[in-house]
Amino acid sequence: MIVCRYATTLHTEAREGALHGVRRALYDFHMRICPACKAYRQGLAQTDEALHALPPEPAPEDLKNSLAERLRAKKG
Ligand SMILES: [Zn+2]
Repeated sequence: MIVCRYATTLHTEAREGALHGVRRALYDFHMRICPACKAYRQGLAQTDEALHALPPEPAPEDLKNSLAERLRAKKG
């Protein structure tokens, strides 16, 4: 049996499909029996979806100009 603190460290690996073997089995079992970790995992998934749904933020003009200047300076 694993504890919640350890289970929370495995969420990312589990989501990325990088969690295997005994650790995966322990994680899956914990998610079945622990409503708190299940809710935490759902919260992470919802946050992830919300972030991916945001439109890309355009870079500020002054940053673009500053980078362009630096690149020109490096070339010359
Ligand atoms: Zn838990």
